[in-house]
Amino acid sequence: MVYRVRGEIVNMVKYYKAYRFRIYPSPDQEQQMAKTFGCCRFIHNHMLEDKIREYKENGKMLRTTPAMYKGEFPWLKEVDSLALANVQLQLEAAYKKFFREPSVGFPRFRAKHHSRDSYTTNLVNGNIRLMGRRLKLPKMSPVRIIVHREIPEDGKLKSVTVVREPSGKYYASLLYEFDSCENQAAVKIREDKVLGMDFAMAGLAVFSDGSRADYPMYYRKSEGKLAREQRKLSRCKKGSRNYVKQKRKVARYHEKIRNQRRDFQNKLSFYLSEQYDAVCVEDLNMKGMSRGLHFGKSVMDNANGRFQRILEGKMVRKGKAYVRIDRYFPSSKRCSCCGRIKGDLKLSDRIYECECGYRGDRDINAAINLRQEGIRILHCSGDEHQVTA
Ligand SMILES: [Zn+2]
Repeated sequence: MVYRVRGEIVNMVKYYKAYRFRIYPSPDQEQQMAKTFGCCRFIHNHMLEDKIREYKENGKMLRTTPAMYKGEFPWLKEVDSLALANVQLQLEAAYKKFFREPSVGFPRFRAKHHSRDSYTTNLVNGNIRLMGRRLKLPKMSPVRIIVHREIPEDGKLKSVTVVREPSGKYYASLLYEFDSCENQAAVKIREDKVLGMDFAMAGLAVFSDGSRADYPMYYRKSEGKLAREQRKLSRCKKGSRNYVKQKRKVARYHEKIRNQRRDFQNKLSFYLSEQYDAVCVEDLNMKGMSRGLHFGKSVMDNANGRFQRILEGKMVRKGKAYVRIDRYFPSSKRCSCCGRIKGDLKLSDRIYECECGYRGDRDINAAINLRQEGIRILHCSGDEHQVTA
């Protein structure tokens, strides 16, 4: 069994943080952005197609660059070349991943109506710059931006991702690099400050101390409203004016819910990273988990994945530990009291009962197991984190 222990902050010199702001492009700027989204999609699909062909014919990895396509499609030169270069990098990474782990499948084509409109550009020679209420981006005049939160002065701008949400709103996500100057020394971990966390399907997370974190009521309320608007949409005639209007409305609700979820995740992860020295979680295989479960669960899994990432970032930055436990560790099947493994545990068994007399909530049992395993790993992970009882 291979365990990975993250939180090796001692050697970490830099960290990254993204700030997302609403932007208000003018019609001209919107047009240029739309062009860039389109070109990125175009180049992604063309490169992928050529890669697939090469793979089918020769079983080899084909290297493609945007420059290879600019001769045949000269209009690609009209958009930010760094945005296209980033498409190449992302595709290359996804493609390499496919060669390493074929089970993840081939990278996908980007369909016009089912993929998010976005592109990423990097800072090169001052081509992007935040100037008060304006954001300078390549190939267009400065775009109006609302910087609603302060960016620490020591941050170095690295890249900007421009997104158009289906609701029609535009955002810019600014990625900053920081030298990790906070007390980098690894925190001495106290065992009573180690938390096990398991993702339950119904709520967001279940903890080893028996508590749960669930989305607040207002989130459920918005979800209900979204369902209602979605039903209305299904009754509209496709392509009609009402349909288009209703679709926008649904998209706005989706966005609202996502923002509420993000807000909740940010607050919860902040709280946990303040409260605990180490958090132990199962390294989820998101894909395997969403299979066979009903509606919308893949969205849930993505949300959990995002939550894990931000929590890990916060823990690591505070010199604390974030322990990912191999997903083959039998966290659900094991009895947290005596260690017996229950081979025939079914997904429908919500209560874990053991011959030793232990009886408890299935998810809490799993969270306790993750905590115990995490403590074991921390004890043998070397001298970086000292663990004391
Ligand atoms: Zn037992």
